[in-house]
Amino acid sequence: MRPSLKLCFAIVLGCSPFFVNAQNSQLFSPFDCRKYGETAPPEEVQPAKVSLPDSAVLAIIYSVSSIEPEPLIVVDTLDGWKEWSYVENYSFGKDRGGMPMITDLNALHPFFRDRIIELIENCKEKGIELAIVETYRTHAKQHEYKTMGKKYTSSGAGRSKHQYGLAIDVVPIMDSIAVWDNAALWRKIGVAGEKLGLRWGGRWRKPYDPGHFEWTSGQGTHNLVAGSFPNVPHGTKHYPCLDEDIRLLKRYWSEWETSQSSLTRK
Ligand SMILES: [Zn+2]
Repeated sequence: MRPSLKLCFAIVLGCSPFFVNAQNSQLFSPFDCRKYGETAPPEEVQPAKVSLPDSAVLAIIYSVSSIEPEPLIVVDTLDGWKEWSYVENYSFGKDRGGMPMITDLNALHPFFRDRIIELIENCKEKGIELAIVETYRTHAKQHEYKTMGKKYTSSGAGRSKHQYGLAIDVVPIMDSIAVWDNAALWRKIGVAGEKLGLRWGGRWRKPYDPGHFEWTSGQGTHNLVAGSFPNVPHGTKHYPCLDEDIRLLKRYWSEWETSQSSLTRK
């Protein structure tokens, strides 16, 4: 091999971690859009097996060591759903049925979740503390509300935005107590949510539902039932892992569906 070829070969060898990293770029999303904690560690850099002048070796070592390792995002893709927070009935002073309510923001669609985090922060700046009453809702839980009457829901199982991670119920907290009947306070919260592009249940009459916010980007329930999620609006933050995240959410949701009945306290 000619010396110049040897050098090229050595550089390619030395820089191979760069190509491994390149494969993790957005080019290949959603198949490998993020480095998961459970993926294999990156290959070790093998020292070049060809004899090179010292200066060339040093240059290669320098170029390898200057590659910053990507931060490892640890995502539990198996049991993450077990970590989701939930509350029992009467946690906020109202009868919400025997099945527990999932209150974890991680159970929501990523774009909607970010809007809710904003809503909670915006309300906090106004001196309003919001508690999360319910985020994702299983079919079984939706069915329970349906049997409890019209003031709980007008939607049957599979037809609430909660069942697609696209709705949330909140309540303002004052002096550690949930305040359900302060219309002026609800209005401030509702307007704050609408400013973020959310649909507010305080505008509804059947049922009037001021703690409810949802985001569907105009997508009808029939589209959601058919498995199609709303598109993230242009000009907002990019979500390179959206498809992967939704796939994982769907799996977690179905895990909850099968486990929720065992958590039921009558
Ligand atoms: Zn709701």
